[in-house]
Amino acid sequence: MDERELANHVLEIVDQTAYRVAARQVIGVHLAVGGRRGFDLDLLHTAFSDVVRGTVADGAELFVKVLPVRHHCPNCRTNFEATKDDCPCPECGHPHTEIIGGEELRVLNLDIDDTAA
Ligand SMILES: [Zn+2]
Repeated sequence: MDERELANHVLEIVDQTAYRVAARQVIGVHLAVGGRRGFDLDLLHTAFSDVVRGTVADGAELFVKVLPVRHHCPNCRTNFEATKDDCPCPECGHPHTEIIGGEELRVLNLDIDDTAA
């Protein structure tokens, strides 16, 4: 999935949500993405303002929260947060830890303008 696909995917969710809550105008979209997805946030913002043109979210501001990648140590069973793919365990120093999570993609919240006609 690249930035444009993600933007389209987000728009789909926004569109459905706006319809469900009968929102006329979405002015802000709060998004959470896992740190492993490695999106270019600038590209994502550009793609987003592109795809929302003419939709209920036209001109909406995109807020992206990058979630930390969690690792699990097979040696001492510690779970910890880190950004890199392969990181040593902070507890026991084990060099290879398993990645759990980091692939999340969630629309957390929408800011809706109810005053729009
Ligand atoms: Zn460990």
